[in-house]
Amino acid sequence: MTLLEMDDVRRTYRLRRSIFGHSEEVHAVNGVSLVLHRGRTLGLVGESGCGKSTAGRLAVGLEAPDAGQVRYDGVPMARAGTRPWKDLRARVQLVFQDPLGALDRRLTVATQIKEPLVIHGQGSPAEHERRMRVLLDAVGMRPDQAAQYPHELSGGQRQRVVLARALATNPDLLVCDEPVSALDVSIQAQVVNLLGDLQAEFGLAMLFISHDLKLVGCLADEVAVMYLGKIVEQGEPHKIYAQPAHPYTRALLAAVPDPARRGPRPVLTGEPPNPAARPSGCAFHPRCPIAVAICKTESPALLPGADGRVVACHLAHDGVRSSKAGPS
Ligand code: ADP
Ligand code: MG
Repeated sequence: MTLLEMDDVRRTYRLRRSIFGHSEEVHAVNGVSLVLHRGRTLGLVGESGCGKSTAGRLAVGLEAPDAGQVRYDGVPMARAGTRPWKDLRARVQLVFQDPLGALDRRLTVATQIKEPLVIHGQGSPAEHERRMRVLLDAVGMRPDQAAQYPHELSGGQRQRVVLARALATNPDLLVCDEPVSALDVSIQAQVVNLLGDLQAEFGLAMLFISHDLKLVGCLADEVAVMYLGKIVEQGEPHKIYAQPAHPYTRALLAAVPDPARRGPRPVLTGEPPNPAARPSGCAFHPRCPIAVAICKTESPALLPGADGRVVACHLAHDGVRSSKAGPS
């Protein structure tokens, strides 16, 4: 069953005006469509600045799109501040990168986990206490840690508390924005495994945002790769890893350190992407090793491929490569 739908969603930020009165526009999310079903995980990956966090904020209604529509359970997202929007806040939770920033240093673990239940007026104090104990256990913390303060915990434990709090109101959807990026590499896998367990236990749908394609693949049923505000490839992770169809996805995968591979690893070349100066045609063309003439002028549509995947590349689809390939 469909839980979240984003339909050609756009969000543009207008930055400072120049002396000529022009404002610079940043097309942070530039026509993103996606569907997330109940209990499923969609991974959103791409380099820093490609619009992942903006897409996450749009998905949970913290920001409104300039164009397009976000629907939750088939209903268009309510306007911020309205009653239906406030009710939705209990059903959709966001988890950010920095657990210390998300927690209040002056409050105990117990108080912080119960907080959403108090805010949303769900249950009695005795029920809050019971629920807090259940959640603490679910995220792998000891009962006595309920009385501790954030500074007494490790980074991994803090993120566990943040997760417990996010689950307090029994949400349908968890949007995790780089949830393990601030943690030690040794702890990252533990928290990712925990997320997988929690998802199964609580029947959560998850939008898992990360710059790390490999990490997303551990959890996601489907992965969407973003480049400068657009999805350029989407499909099941094992298919994407085995045979990335978009040159950008190939570059991202090649940039993942592989201890088994010898020699220098390929990295993305060219200018880092700047959403305020989006290249013409396919936005990836200045960095693309296989770009041809059409890539500079025409933006490729996101089209279905053979194995249930969608790809936005002039050269990825059968027939196109043979007729248009060749250096430009
Ligand atoms: P990511 O999460 O993939 O790193 P973001 O969604 O944070 O990307 O940002 C996408 C682009 O939009 C960036 O160029 C960023 O500077 C810009 N941006 C994001 N939020 C704002 C904002 N509130 N005001 C102005 N520009 C923003
Ligand atoms: Mg971000």
